[in-house]
Parts: sequence; structure tokens; C-alpha cells
Amino acid sequence: MTTKRKAELVVPVEDENDLLRITPLGAGREVGRSCILLQYKGKTVMLDCGLHAGHEGINSLPFLDEVDPATVDLLLVTHFHIDHAAAVPYYLEKTTFKGRTFMTRPTKGVFRWLATDYIRVTNTSNSESTALYSEADLVNAHAKIEEIDVHQQIEIGGIKFTAYNAGHVLGAAMFLIEIAGVKVLYTGDYSREEDRHLVPAENPGVPVSVLITESTYGLHNHEPRVDREKAFMKQVRDVVRRRGCCLLPVTALGRTQELLLILEEYWRRYINELENVPIFFISALGKTGTRLYKQYVMDMSRRIQRQLSKTGQNPFDFRYIKTRTGASEVPETGPCVVLATPGMLQSGVSRKLLERWAPRPENGLIITGYSVEGTLAREINNSMDDIPALSGGRIPRRIAVTNISFSAHVDGAQNCAFIDEIRAPFVILVHGEENAMMRLRANIVDKYKGSDYEVAVHAPRNAQAIELHFHGEKIARVMGGLATKVPGQGDYAAGVLVEKDFNYTLVDVADLHEFANIAPVVVEQQQHVPYSSSFSLLRLHLEQMFGALPLTTEKSNSGETNILRVYDAVDVSHSSWKTHVEVEWEGNVMNDMAADSVVAVIFNTESCPASVK
Ligand SMILES: [Zn+2]
Ligand SMILES: [Zn+2]
Repeated sequence: MTTKRKAELVVPVEDENDLLRITPLGAGREVGRSCILLQYKGKTVMLDCGLHAGHEGINSLPFLDEVDPATVDLLLVTHFHIDHAAAVPYYLEKTTFKGRTFMTRPTKGVFRWLATDYIRVTNTSNSESTALYSEADLVNAHAKIEEIDVHQQIEIGGIKFTAYNAGHVLGAAMFLIEIAGVKVLYTGDYSREEDRHLVPAENPGVPVSVLITESTYGLHNHEPRVDREKAFMKQVRDVVRRRGCCLLPVTALGRTQELLLILEEYWRRYINELENVPIFFISALGKTGTRLYKQYVMDMSRRIQRQLSKTGQNPFDFRYIKTRTGASEVPETGPCVVLATPGMLQSGVSRKLLERWAPRPENGLIITGYSVEGTLAREINNSMDDIPALSGGRIPRRIAVTNISFSAHVDGAQNCAFIDEIRAPFVILVHGEENAMMRLRANIVDKYKGSDYEVAVHAPRNAQAIELHFHGEKIARVMGGLATKVPGQGDYAAGVLVEKDFNYTLVDVADLHEFANIAPVVVEQQQHVPYSSSFSLLRLHLEQMFGALPLTTEKSNSGETNILRVYDAVDVSHSSWKTHVEVEWEGNVMNDMAADSVVAVIFNTESCPASVK
């Protein structure tokens, strides 16, 4: 693992409890293993728990040892991508974490399969397994995950959180987290463009104190979606027209389903021309993916739901796309279109087909997803003469390479527009490569310098805590009997201040039960103090200390009982036939102190020379 850095940005504060601490345990100046820690007022929330595709085994985990898992109250997972969710089973089953975990229903449904695939791929691609958990761990963890609906607010132990649409992929959510009045919005991966099947990311429309946003594309701007689609289809058509094979390396689930919708629509429209050009979608999870997408149509955009109700046919029931687990049916020569996993050409079917088709110029490769640094999908371009073969050696490259991004992340302009809309005084950038992130940060700082929007932008590294100070200003609501009169300027209200989950109410003791669900009880205290001298001596000593005391005398068969009352609160009973004095009072701070001094006087009287005589 790389060396960890300690917090460098420290704001001087009077009260530790007013510090909001935000620490990326992953996705700090990198893309991959998203995991952001939020700590405030003794509460700890973890946002996402993903794995880094560029590392293996425990090195792919976020810096989880920066926090004691037993202290994490809540884990919120934005979407099913490996870099946001794949470490969840590890955290739930292999650590002492005992908090609660939430994700949306589609995220939970799809995640189950993606994680199974992660275990399968990790176990088969290495001679020594580097999988961080087993299928059994996944099953156990999956059963513990709870679901949250979009726009649903849940409160757990004073932490309120709400899920909002994030676009990006099916089920992707942003989370608005509120602790003690401080609101933090975490975007996860998000997209504000309307595509064929998703609801774009939304603005929660409430004042936000801290915005934690992705910055994958930095300041880079995408071309408009319509232009990208046109360019994409033109490229596909050019390849098949010259009877080439068109290869699209894709992930099994997510943006791929959008590409499938585009291709299906295009084939339907131009069926005369394309009738004999097969489209294959090759992935171990292909069929499962289609089934899941059909199942969650109601969690998608209105457009796709309208399509379903109008035609009665599920838009993910593809007519022209053949979904297969292996490449055996793929023809040796074109024309054909093949979408194959994995998306970054690391290994597997997409890599095998690339190596097969790379030498011929009529073939085409279209990279549509975001490719991590160091992968072939990131490196390959039209000026490379050859590419590395997995079996060793080099293969000549004449295949035409095109990059058309369909990875639904906001671009620079969209991210800046969202930051401008939210207007949070603090913006924290995560999920971006360092250079892209730094350019975005400089741009935001420059843009608002001297304007009425004062914003501090941070781009912390992994394990570097950003500490933000929020005033611990407390507002208490006055309720019940205390609230019957409108207070005037300078009036005081006195009652019992009740705190529950960072909400304060001021009520009269008599109203405690009704407004705070607290039943007031009286504690009767009684103490027996050994005493063998006369009542008159006791009375003398007590009155010397407390002044004249009211006396009540009760007579019974056994003898006489004299009761002295001290401060109108503590009763001291002396019975002629007993060898102790009984002290009784109603327990509270004042009475307890009075009773203490009474007991001290009795001890004193019992041990003084006069009583011995
Ligand atoms: Zn994602
Ligand atoms: Zn991501």
C-alpha cells in the first residue's frame, strides 16, 4: 500500500464535538475503491465501500484500518459498481462492523450478481485466489443489507439520511446526510443527462453545508449526448459496411444496457440494411443482467415506462441482440458487432477478440466506458503499431480505435453547474485523478474569488482528514405548559431541557411524560443512623446547626417518637425504644445535601463527650 498521510488541515476550535471530519479512505485523488468517512458529534457514517480495479487482494481495499469498524454506525452505498460496493461483504463479514447498511432496491439486486462475478473472476484469473470473501460471506452480507427508496428519509440514532436519483446507472443514489442540523450531500457517481433509461441526478433543494462530489472528468467536457450517439452509430455502421468486426469492450451491467438500447433501436430502424449483421452480447452475466433490468423497469425513467405501457413489450426484451456466455457463435469474419466483457480489456473474451481482430484494418474497436490508468483500454490508440498479447509477444494493430464516452459521469461544465446550484460553503472533491481534480479545484476557486459565494474547495488524499468547524448552536423548542404564554423580550423560560437525537425541547416537569415520553419519579430516601443518647441532646445539636425546628410527637405502645423537620425537607425521627435515628427525605440535589449535613450532626452528637456522660 502507498504511504498514508495524516491530517494536515486543522482548524482551531474550542469544542472537539463541533468538528465535522471527512476522510476519504479511498477515492482520494484517485478513481477506484470509493470509501468516504463522515464523523460528527460522535456519529460515524461510511459512504461507499468499493474495491480498486487496478490492485489485487487486500491492496484493492480502501484504507479501512483508519477507523475502528465497531464505531461505524452506518454504511450507505450509492450504486452497484465494483469501485463503490465490492468491499461491502468484506466489511460486513470480515471486520467488527456492526452498524447498518443501506442501498436502493435495484442496487441491492444487481450488486448480488456483480459480487458473485467478482468472486468468480478473481478465483479463476489467478492461480492463487485473491478473493477477499467467499460466496457464503456474500450471502450472509447480502441478507444484512437494508433497502432505501428514492426520496425516502430514514433516521437512525440521530443520523437522518435521504436517497436522491443520481443518474449514472440503474439504482444509483446520492445521499443527503443530516447530523445535528449539518447537512452533507454525497453525489457518488452522478449524471445529469437524460438518457434512454435513467432518471438524471436531482438537486435535493435544501441548503447543504458540505458537498462531496465526484470529479472523474475534471474540467473535460463531453460532446452533447445526441452528437455522441450519432458518432457512435456512424462508427458502428462504417465498420459493418466495410464488412469488419466491431468490438465494444463493456462491463456486464450498467452503461452497457444503454448501449444495447441504442443498438436495438438502430437495428429496428434500419433493419433492411442491417438484417444480416448479427449483434452479440457476450458476458457470463449477460442473461442475468437483462433479467434484472427487465425486473426494475419501474425504477427507471418515465420514457422507458411509457415505452413498456405503449407497446406492451419490455424494452430490454431484445430482438436483434443475441446474449451469450461464450464467443463460440461469433463469426471469424465480419460483418458483426460484439459487446464483450471486461470493459477495460484486461483479460477475458473482449481481450481475446481484440487480439484476434487487431491485425485487420476493416475491424473497429470502440471504447465507450471510463478506463482506469494502466489498462489496455486506456492506452490503445491509432498510433500504436502493435499491442501486447496476453500470451506474451506483440500483435500488429490495424484495427481502427475510437473513443466515444458513454460513461454517465458529469463532465466539467455539468459538475460546475451543480456545484453552483447547491452553493455549499464547503466542497470536497473525490473520485478523480489528481491532475483532473486539481484543475477543477483551481477553476472553482478562481471563479468565485471575490464573489458573494464563498466556497472552500478541498481535494484530500486517502486517509487525510478534512476538519470543518460548525457552530454548536442549539435551538430548543418550548412545549406544553411553558408555551402557553408568548414570551416578551428578555423573558426567561425555565424547565427541563430534553435532548434526543440532537433535537432539544424545553418542557415543564409536569409535561415531561406527554412531550418527552419521560415519566418523572420520586425517590424516597431513608437512612438509619446509630444513636443511643437522649432526644433532647439530639435536638440541641440539630437546632444549633439549623435553627429552631418544628417538632411532631407520636405516641404508641412501645413509647414516644419525636420527629424534627429540617429545611422543610428532611425528617429526623427519634423513637425512645430504638438505638438508631431514622432520617427520611425526597431525593434531589438540594435535599440530598441537607440530609448529608443532618447525618453528620447525628454522628457528631453520638460521639461527643456530652452524650457519653
Ligand atoms: Zn460508477
Ligand atoms: Zn465510480
